[in-house]
Amino acid sequence: MRKVLVVEDESSIRELIALNLRMAGWEVLEAESAERGLQRLAAEGPCAAAVLDVMLPGMNGFSLCETIRRDDDNIGIIILSAKGLEEDKIRGLSIGADDYMTKPFSVSELLARIEALCRRVNRSRPQSADEGESRLVSGQFVLDQKSRILYKSGRPIDLTQVEFQIMELFFQNPGTALVREKILEGVWGPSYYGDVKIVDVNIRRLRMKIEDAPSSPEHILTVWGYGYRWNA
Ligand code: CA
Repeated sequence: MRKVLVVEDESSIRELIALNLRMAGWEVLEAESAERGLQRLAAEGPCAAAVLDVMLPGMNGFSLCETIRRDDDNIGIIILSAKGLEEDKIRGLSIGADDYMTKPFSVSELLARIEALCRRVNRSRPQSADEGESRLVSGQFVLDQKSRILYKSGRPIDLTQVEFQIMELFFQNPGTALVREKILEGVWGPSYYGDVKIVDVNIRRLRMKIEDAPSSPEHILTVWGYGYRWNA
């Protein structure tokens, strides 16, 4: 069964989310704190997705997100915040969240985003070796689609699902300038409601992982006012 972790201290909101998820066929692990959420995840996980409130008693949602992401590159994480601050959004995405919603939010939209996130994760993970090519090669880089690991000159680099899919897009379009909207659509899907800044945040994170000097990148090049270009 598909499992989702919901961490929210406000019981009325948590129960509303959980109820709607259960009606949509999800098994829900509810937690009123980050600490309890981590306990449940360890005992009853793994989960396909996690919905994390930012303002929690004890450990906050950002630290929780970082902690979960450290152990699990595959889980789809959505941050819920009362603040609509751009800094909060960027912060959430840069520490490993895949999506971000501001309260008050529509539960049906939250459900749609969780579904989109999990479809993406499933779509990008081939079930068997027969499903197409399993290794993409570009210069010194090898993208292993079975293990979901990127190798740079033989050295493995762990990527999140989103980072992996951006790399797939680059490898399939070498030397081509990709407009940010195209990257957004290619990775997040055509029905994604978010804005293109999420692309920039993920690119920044990817550069930290694959570039020798992330501030003067040699592989993921910026095409000013447009998007990004892969140069192996
Ligand atoms: Ca809260």
